[in-house]
Amino acid sequence: LILFDNETRRERVQVVVRCRPLHSKEKAEGRLSCVSVDTQRCTIQVRNTKNPDVPPKLFTFDRTYGSSSTQREVYDDVAHSIVHSVMCGYNGTILAYGQTASGKTFTMDGLDNPPEMRGIIPNAFEDIFAHIEQSQSSDHFLVRASYLEIYNEEIRDLLAQNSHNPHRLELKESGDTGVYVKNLTSVTVQSVPDINRLLSMGKKNRSVGATLMNQDSSRSHSIFSITVETSAGPCSEHPDAGQSVIRVGKLNLVDLAGSERLNKTGATGDRFRELTNINWSLSALGNVISALVDGKSTHIPYRDSKLTRLLQDSLGGNTRTVMIANIGPADYNFDESISTLRYANRAK
Ligand code: ADP
Ligand code: MG
Repeated sequence: LILFDNETRRERVQVVVRCRPLHSKEKAEGRLSCVSVDTQRCTIQVRNTKNPDVPPKLFTFDRTYGSSSTQREVYDDVAHSIVHSVMCGYNGTILAYGQTASGKTFTMDGLDNPPEMRGIIPNAFEDIFAHIEQSQSSDHFLVRASYLEIYNEEIRDLLAQNSHNPHRLELKESGDTGVYVKNLTSVTVQSVPDINRLLSMGKKNRSVGATLMNQDSSRSHSIFSITVETSAGPCSEHPDAGQSVIRVGKLNLVDLAGSERLNKTGATGDRFRELTNINWSLSALGNVISALVDGKSTHIPYRDSKLTRLLQDSLGGNTRTVMIANIGPADYNFDESISTLRYANRAK
């Protein structure tokens, strides 16, 4: 569906679905796949193996990726043009949605994997610095990175020096800069190794923090943000972005918390609170995207969660957004996969 930005330029929220292969444990257990992906028609079909009389459910998206899709293919289709528009001063957001173990982190990250197995974040780093290297010597770039997580509606700085005891950061709003996180660490980076180091450090902080507090890092949303400030002539890829000398674009790379639903897990206590917060913020995200996409809503409910408030300037308006919904193919994931596909379908 279509979004209109301030200058009535047409922008879309792109929704794609990726179904990972059965992993070795699932194969060893003799799990069957209940998902068929047609990449030509951009459809996903899910069969109910428990009840073969129920007709299969068919969903259509902007693109679909099956078990043989490569990281490069996904990057080139889904991320490349957003990354390049960020260098022309637009904001962009790439979100990975799905239940735990559906492949969100594989799709977004994989920094430690061999090069062809790396996901969107490390590929975006390479792409940004390759672009800078190839640009004219009169162009200047300032690249800054920040990395945070939202856990139980609290924001934590993953690049803070003392992250063992992460302080909760506050969201602020100002007329000039819009919504921002007060005191969030923002690091200037000059090279791919620089920014890779930050990603590794932040991930380590995330898992150490989670372990110390007896939490599971798949229960939090993480957002790696890259801000690119460019002082240069008109942008070749977006010549209409104006002659302005300085452009600022921000890219948010979001690995969402696992979307598994509350009712099935029988969680109590802290786990219950985590799941309630996750369900709440994921449904707030779904509401914001569908209000934007619908185009008729006069009120976009950004304020309903930290996640949507934080992304407010990067969802809708002068921005580009893509959601990658991830599913597992195995029949025991049937209910969760259907729930993910419905969520993704609503965001289209
Ligand atoms: P999530 O972040 O959604 O919890 P992960 O990305 O950790 O899930 O994926 C779960 C497991 O499946 C990991 O071992 C990961 O390497 C593997 N995996 C996920 N997607 C793919 C894929 N497209 N191809 C191969 N392996 C994958
Ligand atoms: Mg993960």
